[in-house]
Amino acid sequence: MVIRIRWAVGYGLFAAVILTLLSGVHYTHQQQMLQNQKDDSLRAIAGLLEVSIPAKGSSALAIKKRMEAILADHPDLELKSAMIKIYDGSRSALFSSSIMEEDSLQMTEPMWTVALSGRTTFSTVYRYNIGSVRTIVVPVFREGGVLYVIQVGSSIRSIKTAMQDLLVLNLWFIPIAALLAGIGGGWMTKRVLKPLDRVAAMACEVSSENLSRCVVDERADKEIQGLTEAFNQMINRLEKSFHQMRDFSDNVSHELRMLLSILRGETELCLLQRRSVEEYRKTLENNLEQMLRMEEVIEKLLFLSKVDRGEMELHQMEFDLFFVIKEVISQVELTAKGKKVAIHLRAGSSTLIHGDPILMRGAILNLVQNAITYTPPGGEVSLFIEKEINEARVTVADTGLGIPGNEIPYIFERFYRADQSYSSSRGSGLGLSIVKWIVESHRGRIAVDSVVGKGSRFTMILPLSSF
Ligand code: ADP
Repeated sequence: MVIRIRWAVGYGLFAAVILTLLSGVHYTHQQQMLQNQKDDSLRAIAGLLEVSIPAKGSSALAIKKRMEAILADHPDLELKSAMIKIYDGSRSALFSSSIMEEDSLQMTEPMWTVALSGRTTFSTVYRYNIGSVRTIVVPVFREGGVLYVIQVGSSIRSIKTAMQDLLVLNLWFIPIAALLAGIGGGWMTKRVLKPLDRVAAMACEVSSENLSRCVVDERADKEIQGLTEAFNQMINRLEKSFHQMRDFSDNVSHELRMLLSILRGETELCLLQRRSVEEYRKTLENNLEQMLRMEEVIEKLLFLSKVDRGEMELHQMEFDLFFVIKEVISQVELTAKGKKVAIHLRAGSSTLIHGDPILMRGAILNLVQNAITYTPPGGEVSLFIEKEINEARVTVADTGLGIPGNEIPYIFERFYRADQSYSSSRGSGLGLSIVKWIVESHRGRIAVDSVVGKGSRFTMILPLSSF
């Protein structure tokens, strides 16, 4: 069901329930009020007759005359239309008003008993010829006893008719009012939803090709504008990640195509003519190196995609940075020696931190490999471990090419390679983004200080184990 119809039905039902409750309360209250009015008027008539009734010893004729005189003289219409009966102490009727038939009012046994006990009673009886009649039975005391009993009755047909009219009115009024409330509710909902329709139409025009397009509705209310703003922000985020994805796949394809074309070029060149075993061996070695680089790039990509999916788990434990660095040095010693780059380690006592030692070794290895790669032969790579009050600082410093100041902010981005490193055959531009993630996942940070032509210092600042 469309929302407009749902709201219209809801409004209608709500109005119907409320109106039914209110009408019910009003109906009951009205009925009670009319009945009270009738009782008051019966009580007043009985009171008038009671004070006017002659004293003990009056004959039935005298009483009848007195009553007829009262009925004739009194201007009260209620009195004139009332059915009156007066009984003596032995339940014989002394007087009956002329407007009623013989059996219109009847004194039942319980009424009589209550009257003799000195109490007034009200009751409603149904008489087939005149309908429902409300009666009052009042004892009249004279000289210490109940001398007469007055019974006054009055038809309550007018009350019944009034209540029936009210009921019919309500039965018409409630459905009509509920229908109008439903129509009004539907109309209001349509008005409220109109700006949303406009926003939805504009949103439909936004596709992956024109994500930069904004949804703007000048006429919309504040709430709807909040919605469009949230929608635009979401589109901006989507656009950003679309661009990132495009850049990422461009970079991946570029990187892998470059490695593959080197591999292909070398292989094709080798196959152009018959070669010596030594030459074949050299080509295979070069190819193997390219394949290892491809493998390295793919592994780094897989690592980063795991990081992006939030699936990278840290195998936490306490470990000594000193031993991790020693391991890294022994791993790169041969490469450094081959490149004639000296490696020095300056470390104090053991430095315990909490985290994943394998990931940390990978991060330090990356920094050291970069340092060796970007340092010309004859240069130096130094590693320092320093302990502060609550943090450890691991520095990898080299006397290499250095990084231009304007490029430093970008070197931690994926696939970013500073200009001078493009000439180098190594490197995919992924290493430092992985290092940054590892350091940050150990609640640390990384700082770079570099001077072109003099060298670079990468410092990892990590919280000590006890903090
Ligand atoms: P790569 O695999 O290309 O080294 P990284 O992400 O590790 O990728 O490094 C990004 C870029 O930062 C490198 O291409 C290089 O230009 C620069 N860089 C990193 N370390 C050094 C360093 N020690 N000396 C000079 N430049 C460096």
